[in-house]
Amino acid sequence: MDDCIFCKIISGDVPCYKIYEDEYVLAFLDINPVVNGHTLVIPKKHFVNIFDVDNFYLEKVTAAIKKISVHYNQKFDGINILNANDKSAQQSVFHLHFHIIPRTIDDGKDFWPYKEVLDKTDLKTMAERLKL
Ligand code: AMP
Ligand code: ZN
Repeated sequence: MDDCIFCKIISGDVPCYKIYEDEYVLAFLDINPVVNGHTLVIPKKHFVNIFDVDNFYLEKVTAAIKKISVHYNQKFDGINILNANDKSAQQSVFHLHFHIIPRTIDDGKDFWPYKEVLDKTDLKTMAERLKL
């Protein structure tokens, strides 16, 4: 897509610090890292987000995430994997991507959402609404 920053990175029109690449997937450092080593993993074909990606590319991206995660786990103490889909979920670049966020013991970060659920009593109703 012409106006997509990540497509421009894939084509080489915009530079990046590449971490991993194969035929279907590219991983590179986030330009605005929340921790050192903050990495983005993207399909080399334009998909907006999880809602439109095809399973073939999703599997390739997932396999790359696993590979990079295992590699990073030897260099850090763990990782978070984050992914935003659509504006309400704070997606800002509309080319599917997964954040790999390396963690170190005592890094003082908290990437886990606030754990309090406002309406804890209504799980039954919610399950009925959501079940496939
Ligand atoms: P999200 O808010 O989940 O859509 O994440 C988009 C991410 O892309 C942000 O963390 C940005 O810092 C990152 N980003 C945007 N432009 C670039 C770029 N040219 N190179 C590397 N990372 C970028
Ligand atoms: Zn794109």
